[in-house]
Amino acid sequence: MTASHDLIVLGAGSGGLATAFRAAKHGARVALLEPRELGGTCVHRGCVPKKAMWIAAQWAQEQHWATALGFAAQPGPLDWRHFRDVRAAYIERIDRRYAERLQQAGVEVVPQAAHFVARDTVELADGSRRQAPHVVIATGARPRTLEIPGFDLGLVSDDIFALDAAPRRVAIVGGGYIATEFAGLLRALGCRVELLARGRLLAGFDAEVVQALREQMHGQGIVVHLGTDVRAARRGDDGIVLDDAAVASTRGPYDAVLWAVGRSPNTESLGLDAIGVTLDGKGHVATDVWQDTNVAGIHALGDVTGRHALTPVAVAAGRALADRLFGGQRDARLDYDNIPSVVFSKPPLGRVGLTEDEARERHGEAVRVHRSRFTPMAWALVGKREQSLMKLVCVGEDERVVGIHLLGPGADEMLQGFAVALKRGICKRDLDATVAIHPTSAEELVLMD
Ligand code: FAD
Repeated sequence: MTASHDLIVLGAGSGGLATAFRAAKHGARVALLEPRELGGTCVHRGCVPKKAMWIAAQWAQEQHWATALGFAAQPGPLDWRHFRDVRAAYIERIDRRYAERLQQAGVEVVPQAAHFVARDTVELADGSRRQAPHVVIATGARPRTLEIPGFDLGLVSDDIFALDAAPRRVAIVGGGYIATEFAGLLRALGCRVELLARGRLLAGFDAEVVQALREQMHGQGIVVHLGTDVRAARRGDDGIVLDDAAVASTRGPYDAVLWAVGRSPNTESLGLDAIGVTLDGKGHVATDVWQDTNVAGIHALGDVTGRHALTPVAVAAGRALADRLFGGQRDARLDYDNIPSVVFSKPPLGRVGLTEDEARERHGEAVRVHRSRFTPMAWALVGKREQSLMKLVCVGEDERVVGIHLLGPGADEMLQGFAVALKRGICKRDLDATVAIHPTSAEELVLMD
């Protein structure tokens, strides 16, 4: 027998949950299919456990700095097992709350994976079938693996959260945000960290701000190797060693290797071929501005589409889609322009809008950049000399702000409000006309020459 619904959602991660909740609110009969935990990557293997580690790392650093202010206690190391329990309890509360809310919303949660057998029908792991005029693919992505010898000797980001002790020497292979974040937080938690990237660090973020972060990473004792080409991992006498073809030599030994070499979309087992859903060259589901695929009634959103792989993007895309399909809002869709994002490095780095290079490419001579470098008060007090960097990228006579780039403590919390302002089309003079809040780091953004 085939049960029927108004909407079937594949995957209860950030995007799938948001779609299901919003569609149910509009009165749709929704089935949400998920073989693993509610909450997906973000809650269990991404943002949440990562941020918990980042917070622990922050407090480790602050314990040290506090002694410079006169606090007597000598900081001790983190008890990883205790920390893991505390973090697990927090995540369990999120899980429970999702389950309660889904029940209240009337969403039918089916704890199984599914694949398409027709454009409006999916088959579950137990062989039963579900049918709906609309199916949303929100199956996310997983850590990419490499076909190189010894890959299994290393960890992927999912595994880091299961560690119950700090590895002494860690190599992180990759140069994206996940590699950079783990480099910072593992270093702050006492590991010796080497980061091995192929190209530049954090491609897509403003080059000058990334360079300033690199200098701070260097100051923290993180060794960054750029232009590496890791071809194999081997177990040596004193740990894991990596063959780096770029220097025709080995690197290491290390106690742990983290492969942070990208993410692969979960599309292979969905039966998309049979129903003719188009994928892009990297296996992502191809979607248009409405989150529609090339097959009528099949939609996709979140990491499986490869477009801005961030939780709030998946959530916003899901809500807009549900508003359009079931809420009578015919024009609802996510505007993918000017999406802010933050790298939880040490210190955090954020961007919204165009980088300086992107702006110059688009607007040439019309670009004007304002920047401020300063030592935040908390750092200056404890004798740290490192500087925050803030950049405004402006365009034209009226200096419309087209990019904001921040590096420094508090950048993660500061950027959200300024992202609203940028999206509203503010000009430099609007910032000049805003009275500063003193003494803060954020005031620098309204006090630039
Ligand atoms: P997911 O959350 O991956 O959910 C997909 C779900 O689909 C999974 O639960 C999976 O089990 C299920 N599924 C798979 N196949 C099937 C099937 N056949 N049938 C049914 N269900 C299926 N983003 C941020 O915004 N901020 C951060 O700080 C941040 N940090 C991150 C740190 C790490 C280490 C990682 C890995 C990611 C981070 N992200 C962050 C990205 C964020 O986690 C993702 O963008 C977000 O989870 C994407 O949501 P999604 O719904 O597309 O997919």
